Order: sequence, then structure tokens, then C-alpha cells
Amino acid sequence: MIKSNILPIHNRLDIKFSYGKGVYLYDVNDKKYLDFGSGIAVNIFGHCYPKLVKILQDQSEKLWHVSNLYQISELEDFAQNITKNTFADYVFLCNSGSEAIESGIKMVRKYFYSKNKPEKNRIITFKGAFHGRTMAAISASQNPKYLEGFSPILEGFDQAEFNNINSVAKLIDNRTAAILIEPIQGEQGIRVANKKFINDLRRLADQNDLLLFFDEVQCGVARTGHLYAYDYYDVKPDIIASAKGLGAGFPVGACLATKEAASGMDIGSHGTTYGGNPIATKVANFVINEVLENNFLQKVQEKSNLLQKKLDLLQQNFPKIIIEVRGVGLMLGLKINEKYSNLDIVKKLAKNGLLTIPAAENVIRILPPLIIEDNHIEEFCQLMEKTLLLF
Ligand code: PLP
Repeated sequence: MIKSNILPIHNRLDIKFSYGKGVYLYDVNDKKYLDFGSGIAVNIFGHCYPKLVKILQDQSEKLWHVSNLYQISELEDFAQNITKNTFADYVFLCNSGSEAIESGIKMVRKYFYSKNKPEKNRIITFKGAFHGRTMAAISASQNPKYLEGFSPILEGFDQAEFNNINSVAKLIDNRTAAILIEPIQGEQGIRVANKKFINDLRRLADQNDLLLFFDEVQCGVARTGHLYAYDYYDVKPDIIASAKGLGAGFPVGACLATKEAASGMDIGSHGTTYGGNPIATKVANFVINEVLENNFLQKVQEKSNLLQKKLDLLQQNFPKIIIEVRGVGLMLGLKINEKYSNLDIVKKLAKNGLLTIPAAENVIRILPPLIIEDNHIEEFCQLMEKTLLLF
């Protein structure tokens, strides 16, 4: 007999949560966990954030879903708000990061097709990037781990080295349409693109008539202490994919674009059933307003400064275990000495009541809710020390 009827594709820890409040989760035995993983960079306001609960309650009694066959005022409000506060002129709403990536890839191809340059359809992507699990997303990422068994993959992606501008320049020819980059590689272990590299990508894109497409699914929506990471880099992209924090726990994805980059997309060229529904867009609109108000972004930067200092101290105290502290804002990582397994440490931390997220390169990701206070950082440090002493 099978133990569960859930398709066995996720490697789950033996923890079952029952409810959440603020930065804490509680399991079915009422054991308390400090959540420094946020459902992989999703719950930016922690759990059951009262203002968001109220938004959902109110909207759930008004209107949940109507088709994109009709005008949707909640979607209209959100679109106006996000475009007013970003580089973008247009936004397409969907339900996940992978769909947002998929939309951006279609947009790139359609852009050059509509300019009578259909041969310009190849996209440069980067080693170590993760763009999601649809066929286009795994083809773009080109990570053998996610591709195995799924051939034929989608054609049209050329892979460059992260933080190596020459490797990008070498790949550009008259078929190149765009550069797609995850500026801070989350799944790969919080690998941060350097500022010069991102600026050089913009320059290369401009010189070669390419669109610059950022995957901000994990690093976007205040995670870096900026509304989007492109502000941290001070570089404007042409397209971005957003999700995760944008719904703060409610499934929302978005593809944002300039008027020019979106100019190939016309009636019928793309679509969605659920995307842009009133309840999701009401949530997303709240999220954008909330992170732009009351010095929220500045507070993220302050908490980041404190947490990074504490992580540096932790590294000094456990130099044999932690070999590097990485990251921007509250998207941080601890690179663990290869003599230890990040997953073993993550499991022991969970046992001690602290949730973190493993990543590639033997990194432990630290992605707390963006509402953390100094006392949560203190508690985090105590739980880390207590756990690392066991190794
Ligand atoms: N892009 C990045 C950078 C991600 O981290 C993820 C998910 O982890 C995705 C895309 C895919 O998003 P989703 O799982 O919502 O489809």
C-alpha cells in the first residue's frame, strides 16, 4: 500500500504544521518554530498578518473570481499601483513564478517577431540559475538535475557564466534576443551578481538590441530592502518575473514590462484563467502598498545590517563549520564547510525549533519574514549557536 496519495516529488521533512502567527509556526503537537525560511521567501509578513487577513476576509465576502473576459477593477488598481512604482508600463498577472518566467520568454520572442526579426529568438541564461519547473523554465535553467527524463527540451537558450561578462559577450550573435538573469541566485545558494556585472549586462543589451529580463521571483518584493532588486543594482530591466513575496502566501505571479518590450503582445497572444482574479490582485495590491509605506524598506535594510553582523559573529565563533556569509537584505546564506552537510544542520535546527532552507553549494538559506524585530534575530542566534555546538 502507498503511504500517501500525494505525487511523491517533494522530499518532505517529518514536520506537520497546524497554524502560524507572526514569525512563528506551530506543529500539530503545538511545538513552536521560529520561521526563518518563510515558505522559501514567500511569507514576507510572517503568518496570518492581521491587516492581510482583513483584506482577504473582506474580499472573500465580495468577489473571488471572474473571468478575464470582463473588466476587473481590483486588477486595474494593482496594475496602476505597481507600474507607478516600478520601471514597468504593463503587468500580466498569473499564479506562480514559473508562469511569470514563461510569460516573459513568450514576450521576448513575440517582440522580435513583431519587429520582423523572427531569427532573433535565443536567450542567454546563466549557470546556476533556477527559473522554475515548466518546460520553458527548466530549458532556460539548463540544470541537468531538473532536465533528466524530460527531453526534448525547449530550444533557444545559451548558457553563460554568472558574473563573467566576457562569457556573455562571446555568446551574442544576430540570433540573440535577450539576457535572462536571476540577479541573486537563490536555489544555487544565494550567489549575488556583482553590481558592475549587472550594469555591464545592461550596456551589452543596449549595444546589441537585446531585452534584459530579470527573474526576481525570489529576490523581488522588498527581500533585498528595495522594492525590486534592480533598484539595488540601479539598473532598469525591460522585463521582470515576480511571484513568491508578491502574494505573501497567496498564489500570485506577475510579469512586468516596459511598453516597448511588451509591444509584441496583442489580444489572444497569451492568457490565463485564474491570473489577475479579484482576490489575488487585492492581496498583491496590499503587499505593494504595505512594503512602500512606513519606512518598511528602510527597516528591512536595518534588520539586514543587524542580522549580517550577527552572522559574521557566528562565523567567527564557528569557523570550522561556516566558511562564508552571503547575501543582500534579508536574502542571506551561510556556506557550510563540505565536511558537514547543510541538510543535516537544517534538520537539527528544525528539531531545535528554527526553520531555515537548504540550497545548492552546501548553503543554508536564511529568508526570514521581513517584519522581524531585533528580539527574533537574538532568538535566531541563540538557536543557531545551540545547534552548531552539536556538530
Ligand atoms: N524563479 C526563481 C528565482 C525561483 O526561486 C522560483 C521558485 O523557487 C521560480 C522561478 C519558480 O517559481 P514557482 O515555484 O512559483 O513556479
